[in-house]
Amino acid sequence: MRKKIVAGNWKMNLGLDEAMNLASELKVKIDNQLDTGEAGVGGELPEVIFFPPYVYLSRMLDIFHNYEGVGVGAQNVHHNEHGAHTGEVSALMLRSLGANYSLVGHSERRQQFGEDDELLAAKIATALKNGIKPVYCCGEQLPERESDKHFQVVEDQLKRGLFWLDETQLKNVIIAYEPVWAIGTGRTATPDQAQEMHAHIRKLIMEKYSAEAAENMSILYGGSCNAKNAAELFAQPDVDGGLIGGASLKSDDFFRIIQSF
Ligand code: PEP
Repeated sequence: MRKKIVAGNWKMNLGLDEAMNLASELKVKIDNQLDTGEAGVGGELPEVIFFPPYVYLSRMLDIFHNYEGVGVGAQNVHHNEHGAHTGEVSALMLRSLGANYSLVGHSERRQQFGEDDELLAAKIATALKNGIKPVYCCGEQLPERESDKHFQVVEDQLKRGLFWLDETQLKNVIIAYEPVWAIGTGRTATPDQAQEMHAHIRKLIMEKYSAEAAENMSILYGGSCNAKNAAELFAQPDVDGGLIGGASLKSDDFFRIIQSF
């Protein structure tokens, strides 16, 4: 059965004290939940993954060291293992620190840093080679949705960025569908829009790989997902959880999202 996942992308937010307070508050909530055995609305506990800024990774890994059901990852990873790349961080470094995941292809990286699918494919290759599981982000921009190109845009991103992997490699990948028009805008995709795209992604995986690969792939929704709308989104059959930006910065809100299954 595929994993349910709630991931928090802190982006470039929070000072060290704020970040550590947020992490400690969430750890207490998750500890309590595990102690009482009280899961979410549908009785399921998702895996939780934190994506803090690089500089806090080590501290987060100390807090959640060997903590089952909680992963820690980077928001980005370089496509080379090492070398003269001032300011960059490699998958080899992330793994040596104990991190398990990295976001790859977040729309802010695509838009602000010109990362294209070819580069993202190289990042995925290096991440997987070094034991880092990529969370590959895809999603259309508003004009693309308005001109009915959204399915094709996401299909192209998947084909170029991901579908060159073999099926064994694909097992270590998570997909996040994040319509760009919904990220940080307060304009969430409707549950039907999310479901429709997630089902499309799953169908593409089935056609390229197998029914088993499609069934086992965790596909997260991201884009203004919050404590109020998470349950309805997560109730969709092909939505396996969320990649949460703004609402992951408040412990109460993020914890309510964790409990939304
Ligand atoms: C994101 O940045 O991945 C994201 C989904 O942001 P937000 O939840 O703030 O829309």
